[in-house]
Parts: sequence; C-alpha cells; structure tokens
Amino acid sequence: MSHSPIPEPSLKPSKKRIFIGLLGLTFGLIMLLILIGGWIATIGLNQLHPGLTLMAQTVAGLAFIFLSGIIAALILSIVLEKDLPFTQKIRGLGIKLFLPLMEILGPRLGVSKEDVRNSFIEINNRLLVSGQRHTILPERLLLLLPHCLQRADCQRRITTSIDNCQQCGRCDIDALIKLAQTYRIRIAVATGGTLARKIVRDYKPRIIVAVACERDLTSGIHDTYPLPVYGILNRRPEGPCWNTRVDVAEIEKALRIFLIRGQAPQQPRTV
Ligand code: SF4
Repeated sequence: MSHSPIPEPSLKPSKKRIFIGLLGLTFGLIMLLILIGGWIATIGLNQLHPGLTLMAQTVAGLAFIFLSGIIAALILSIVLEKDLPFTQKIRGLGIKLFLPLMEILGPRLGVSKEDVRNSFIEINNRLLVSGQRHTILPERLLLLLPHCLQRADCQRRITTSIDNCQQCGRCDIDALIKLAQTYRIRIAVATGGTLARKIVRDYKPRIIVAVACERDLTSGIHDTYPLPVYGILNRRPEGPCWNTRVDVAEIEKALRIFLIRGQAPQQPRTV
C-alpha cells in the first residue's frame, strides 16, 4: 500500500446535474405549496382580522427567504465542492427533507429511484469530505459491511464476530479484514438495519464507512444522521444480495481521507 497523497474524489457532472435539478424542482414544488396554502389561508384570515393576513404573508415570506438561502448554500457547496458555513447542517436538511421528496419526484420525471439515490450518495460523500476539518482516530472509524459480501456457501458466522472468518480468500471479507488490521479501524458485518443500529450503538464510531446497495446506503445515511456515513456501493455480478463484491482500493481511499493523514499504518492487530 502506498501512502502518497490521494486526490479527493471528484463528482461526475451527470450525478451533480441529477441532484441539483431534482433539488431545484423539489424546492419549486415546496414554494408552490407554501404560496397556494398561504393564499387559501389569507382568504379566511382576512375575514377574521385584516392584521392576520399580513402576519401570514410575513411568515410565508420568511419561510421563502430561509429555504432559498438553504438551497442556494447547498447548491453552491456542491458546485464549488467547498465547505461553506452550515454545509453540514444543510446536509441534514437534504437528508431528512429533500431526499424523500426527490425519491417521489424523480421517477415521475423519468429519473429512476436508483439514480436519485446514487446521486444523493455521491453528494453526501462529497459534502462529508469537504466538511472534514479534523482527522478521525482509527478506533473511532467503523467499516460496516453487508452480509452479502460473504460467499453464500461459506459456513463461518461472521455476523457474530468477523474474527470467525478463516480468511480463505474466496470473498472480499478477507481483504477487508487485512485492510482493517493495517489501518487499525473497527470492522463489522450486519445482516440488516436492526443489527447495523446495534453495532453502531456498541462501537460508538465518529464516522462510518459503509458498503451496501443504493437502497440500504440511503436508508442507513438517513437513519444514522447526524452521525456521518460515507457510502460505497457494492458490485452485484451475480444479482442483488448474492456473492456481492466491493472495490477494496476505493475503501482504502475513503479511509485515508478520514484517518490521521500521514500516519503510517502500524503493525496489524486483531480487531
Ligand atoms: S474469506 Fe472465506 S472464510 Fe472468510 S467469509 Fe469469505 S469465504 Fe468465508
């Protein structure tokens, strides 16, 4: 493993375009709803008291300014690939509010849910990297893997403990254990959301590098917010959830972004 500085990952323009386009449309839709709702409300409010109409208009105006500022900051940080003030807070709003709306809106505009999630994962990763001001201690970084990376015919119970892996080399778990030992990070395998949540509770990481499909990564990033999750997609040469693979070099790049830069990996130890 070489330890020369690695370039930070750059977003593919199409993924940026998908995300920004859907974000803009979602924002437009929310604004339209505020406008229509406000207009309907003012009709009734005006009959109650003329002052209430002005109050409703002021609230709608403030909501418009607030949301416009957030969207502008989010789009700017994505386009410039720079960490702007409040980027990480805005990441939360993107996760909690805009992503579910984009998942509904995207397929109606011809963008598959998978593409929406894919672009979201890329943007989430980019925002995490650009907002990364402090390096993470290795023991506070958790590499969380899906069970489907294990060979389907392997009998070792690696979800109980990854140490049960014999490291026979027939699946990527072997290389990932070696990687975790080299960088002295925590590593675990989860069969689903419940076990993943338990692992996160037990290990208390400061950051998670997670491997999964688009759907599981998106829901994982959503469920664990504000805990940062850097997502890496698995490859599925034999179809979903079956003998999946992952690019180990891509994981190593992610580790080196978050771990103490320049620190040479030390002697492997059992994790
Ligand atoms: S490396 Fe071998 S022993 Fe370990 S999980 Fe994969 S198939 Fe099983």
